[in-house]
Amino acid sequence: MIDEIQSLEKLTMFLEPDEKKMREISSEAAGYLHKYVLGLSDAKGFVQESTADLPSIGESKSFSNLLTVIDHAYEDGINSASGRHLGFIPGGGLWLSGIADYIAAVTNKYAGVTFSAPGAVKIDKAVIEWMVSIVGYPQTAYGDLTSGGSTASLIAIQTARDAFKINSQNVRSSVIYVSTQTHHSTKKALHTTGLDEAILKIIPVDEEYRMDLNILQKEISIDQAAGHIPFLVIASAGTTDTGAIDDLSAIADICEKHAIWFHVDAAYGGFFVLTDEGKKKLKGIERSDSLIMDPHKSLFIPYGSGAVLIRDRKKLLDSFSFRANYLHDVYAEEVIDPADTGLELSRHNRALRIWLPLQFHGIDVFKAALKEKLLLCRYFFDEIAKAGFETGPAPHLSVCIFRYPEGDENAINQMLVDDIKKEGTVYLSSTKMKGKIWIRCAVLSHRTHFRVIDLCIRMMIRLKQKVTQNEKIVLKQNVRAE
Ligand SMILES: *Cc1c(COP(=O)(O)O)cnc(C)c1O
Repeated sequence: MIDEIQSLEKLTMFLEPDEKKMREISSEAAGYLHKYVLGLSDAKGFVQESTADLPSIGESKSFSNLLTVIDHAYEDGINSASGRHLGFIPGGGLWLSGIADYIAAVTNKYAGVTFSAPGAVKIDKAVIEWMVSIVGYPQTAYGDLTSGGSTASLIAIQTARDAFKINSQNVRSSVIYVSTQTHHSTKKALHTTGLDEAILKIIPVDEEYRMDLNILQKEISIDQAAGHIPFLVIASAGTTDTGAIDDLSAIADICEKHAIWFHVDAAYGGFFVLTDEGKKKLKGIERSDSLIMDPHKSLFIPYGSGAVLIRDRKKLLDSFSFRANYLHDVYAEEVIDPADTGLELSRHNRALRIWLPLQFHGIDVFKAALKEKLLLCRYFFDEIAKAGFETGPAPHLSVCIFRYPEGDENAINQMLVDDIKKEGTVYLSSTKMKGKIWIRCAVLSHRTHFRVIDLCIRMMIRLKQKVTQNEKIVLKQNVRAE
């Protein structure tokens, strides 16, 4: 048996590269990444190609070969690390977060409980407390760092559900209010928490795509009169379609008056509180009971970073702190472990990818970058209107919408969307609201600067000329056919 153990040990040594091998691999990886990042400014925003086949998993392969495979696999689709990604909600992805992830993964601290990694948990706590302070929550607030906004919503909504003691008896008479612009991940969270059995009221929006509060008021009164329990209002602080911010202060008043849980989806808009303008526009967020904000959006952290904050930490713990006898060694009173605040038990030190860039770059750089995005979006909005496009409402934050306004509008706008992908210079996505296709410009990557916006405006002018020409040809053909 010892012989077999020893021969197996020899084989497993392959899992631990020696120093020479480590240096070789990390220098090759670093070389690849440096080239990747330095090439981003000239890289296209979108590449329409089909991904190459992957080698099958089995035999060992050389690191260089695998790096080539990864490089090919990552070639197509949206270039989401580049500043030319202006579709959906971009975020860029700070290079330094990659270093932090590398450190967190290699040291592999078990950062779910204080006992196992007191220092790592302190970093987690420092990031959450910083978020609590920037949104203006009281010190009773706490939260959880998640993989993204969807999981963060799930935690917030479960907490609200428990705080209101929603159960099988009362769920069907409990009422939840969202707007027509509420992100679909919220509905997923309502489904996961069993709240899709509650009554869902979808409130229309005004001309700026904000929840219509007269209708919200009216619906609450109707529900109260019917003996239902208005329980949860979900507001948006930066919708995905247009970046619209609901009137948070007014919603806070309504929720306070009727003792309703006030949740804010600030997945996109949250970190704009770091700017003076954003702070003003997000006024009222500090009065919410819970909120989510995505560091992988308005803090430029790579994908895999969301956050939920709950005003009353006790409620968060009531929902997510469980005890297990096999964890007997780890419990201490008066300590909040990351495992007590969310869905995960074993977890890496997710906070490091946020903490390291904040500490290294300093907060002023983030403020400047966010302010720059607000101004770039406004500049784009003005210029695209001058170029003859119809525009939506003036942007609340760094997302705006526009469209080609004539002829067979939807067909032409769809053509533009297809042409944007085909050309690939800068990537923009579209949305459909009230039957109309709108093209969206979302400025949020830390790598998006004036040059990209200028490039984007020129691209849209060029594509518009092309579709206008095509329109004329089609019209002529139709005339001839008649
Ligand atoms: C992105 C987004 C979400 C979902 O967050 P994920 O991080 O993608 O899970 C929720 N709400 C809004 C407003 C968003 O922009």
